[in-house]
Amino acid sequence: MSKKQQNLRIIPLGGLAEVGRNMMLIEYQRKILIIDMGFRLPEEDMPGIDYIIPNISYLKGREKNILGIVFTHGHYDHIGAVPYLIEKIGNPPLFTSKLSRGIILKRQGDFPYQPKLAISEVKDGSKINLGPFEIEFFRINHNIPDNLGLFIKTPIGNILHTSDFKFDQNPINDLPTNFERLKEIGRREILILMSDSTGAEEVGHSLSEKEIFKNLEEIFKRAPGRIIAATFASLINRIQQIIILSEKYQRKVAIEGYSMKTNAEIAKVLGYLESKKGTLIKTKEIGNYHDSKITILCTGAQGEGQAVLMRIANREHPFIRLKKGDTAIFSSSVIPGNERTVQIMKDEILRQKAQVFHYKMMDIHAGGHGQVEELKEMIKIMKPRFFLPIHGQYSMLVRHGGIAKSLGIPEKNVVIAENGQIINLNQKRIFIEEKSIPSYYVMVDGLGIGDVGEVVLRDRQMLARDGMFVIVAVVDRQTGKVKGSPDIISRGFVYLRESKELLAQTRKKVIEIVDRTAGSGGAINWSYIKDEIRNKIGGFFFTKTKRRPMILPVIIEV
Ligand SMILES: [Zn+2]
Repeated sequence: MSKKQQNLRIIPLGGLAEVGRNMMLIEYQRKILIIDMGFRLPEEDMPGIDYIIPNISYLKGREKNILGIVFTHGHYDHIGAVPYLIEKIGNPPLFTSKLSRGIILKRQGDFPYQPKLAISEVKDGSKINLGPFEIEFFRINHNIPDNLGLFIKTPIGNILHTSDFKFDQNPINDLPTNFERLKEIGRREILILMSDSTGAEEVGHSLSEKEIFKNLEEIFKRAPGRIIAATFASLINRIQQIIILSEKYQRKVAIEGYSMKTNAEIAKVLGYLESKKGTLIKTKEIGNYHDSKITILCTGAQGEGQAVLMRIANREHPFIRLKKGDTAIFSSSVIPGNERTVQIMKDEILRQKAQVFHYKMMDIHAGGHGQVEELKEMIKIMKPRFFLPIHGQYSMLVRHGGIAKSLGIPEKNVVIAENGQIINLNQKRIFIEEKSIPSYYVMVDGLGIGDVGEVVLRDRQMLARDGMFVIVAVVDRQTGKVKGSPDIISRGFVYLRESKELLAQTRKKVIEIVDRTAGSGGAINWSYIKDEIRNKIGGFFFTKTKRRPMILPVIIEV
């Protein structure tokens, strides 16, 4: 053997704890294939953050080795980061199904300075060759149409990536799971199975889309007035079910929220969403119909500040005000940490006399993912040598790993990895490299990408919690003494008029600190003085008020 055998490397990336859901890298002899490029919504304690996108610093300097990106499906947690990252990695070729392609292209169009995407359409059975990888796509059910699993042939062995999936024999507007095709793939010697773990902590079998439809119908049957159904903009199946039910109960449907409206339009144009002529109306027209003939479909089931349901609940929506007789349907939160916001919104809706149905299946991750029985079935069909649970929080991965072991996969062949870890494998063994790649999350706010670091976030948290306190001191450069009395501006910390005593003490302390640290004569270290003010006044405030406002010392030299 002249050439040293190189292992295959698999690297999950993405925001926060969900392993590999947003992005994964497959690397062989430095050639890199990327699977998905999505984002995650922020948690409650990240003020002003819009999205969390995968950290791609590993790809810096490796752009020419990137062969392309394959997308499994059109959910934003799998495609949403494209406009933020694609240019940075050299705009490589993209491959995905018709609907996912439509959604990706539409989103890219919202970012006018972004490059044109080279995005090819693939479907069930398509094969593409990218360097050492041959990728074959196969159809698999989820809660969005046109979802594709991946069979990847590599020089080391075959990889199977399930995408997000469930087995559904009664889907809506989609074909049932093709078990014959899956079994045929399972006979090709799968070296490693990477399988969706979202449902690993739920026993039994996921609900079929038809059952979810029946549950929703119960709500439609009893709703006396308008129905306001909040779900995710890319949860096309739920949007379809609401439209079908509205038609069945002679309701018109107004779709509110830019992203949901555009996704629905794309899905309709491409034939993945059906509605009768006249069903969809503009929100402005809802007043032309009786309340019992109206459905409003909107975003914001998670309590996102800018989303439609939140604006309706806060009476900030231009046309829609809640009233008695209204029925709001929304999901439980997908993101642990957003429960409080959702609870506040729910209370606000109830205060306005509407009724609320908290229906878990409106959640993007509920209902769309195989549960224990399906996960077992997948492992039995694919009979992999190695098993890597992906797409889930750590506890779900551990549970999924346990399922694999219970089916006879040896413990040493099951790997529970975290984002940024490098999984190495060859025909004989699988292991995690000691060194990880950077995977701390990158935040996007309205203004930019990644320039919101953890420091900025901490500042925002501090401002939101304890307010800010600006101290302006005029200091004589010659003497190093404060001239006059320092000015104080306080926001969100204490009410100035009621805190005269505290402020007087603060002024006195500032003068003392400057006098002591500036000394007399010679160069004055202004940044040291500012640090001293920040630390000493910070400690003083904490002993007096038990709060830590952000302190901004401003020193004007004269
Ligand atoms: Zn999904």
